[in-house]
Amino acid sequence: MGDYFQTVVDLDATEEEAAALGVRALDWLVAEGIVAAERTDCVLGGGGFGHAPGPQYARAVDDPEPVNLWSNGLRIQTGRTVFDSGQGEPEAARCPLCRTDVRFVDDNWNEIDGAWDPFKGTFEEWSEGGGPGLVHCPACERPSGVDRWTWEDDYFVCGTLGFTFWNWAELTFDFTRDLGRALGGHRTVVLRGKL
Ligand SMILES: [Zn+2]
Repeated sequence: MGDYFQTVVDLDATEEEAAALGVRALDWLVAEGIVAAERTDCVLGGGGFGHAPGPQYARAVDDPEPVNLWSNGLRIQTGRTVFDSGQGEPEAARCPLCRTDVRFVDDNWNEIDGAWDPFKGTFEEWSEGGGPGLVHCPACERPSGVDRWTWEDDYFVCGTLGFTFWNWAELTFDFTRDLGRALGGHRTVVLRGKL
């Protein structure tokens, strides 16, 4: 079993606007009846507190069955965060400058020696240290912040605002589009994973 999660990450929110945008999106989610306004003990991480499904929860998902698990809420995270899909290994990352893919595993899923080296410590530096987390691309040898790299299958996404729904049925395209609209038309990406 395990707990299944979906995280909608805002790709455009700046650090300065993330908290206010999170509040705005929550207001919209509550007004739509998707989640409850009050915070209760219903999510994993973040001290366990989040927003339980609201009376119109079914409008956001492709299966209207209620979620009966304890961990069935929404957790909103703001500030520099490395969102991930929780399982397996990252396969590849793409340099934002030269568009070359750095591969971490070979065709047999064996780790490629040294492939991870340019990335070592950069997530921590970016998310916790507030630094740029520079990665020196092995192909073009130019540095760029780790938050600008794109990961195959969105294995990692660096963002400043994320909405994690615990154990909900699959979020519909219409719902994630409308959430993006509530975020001022920002681009979003959905990460799906299991703990
Ligand atoms: Zn490059």
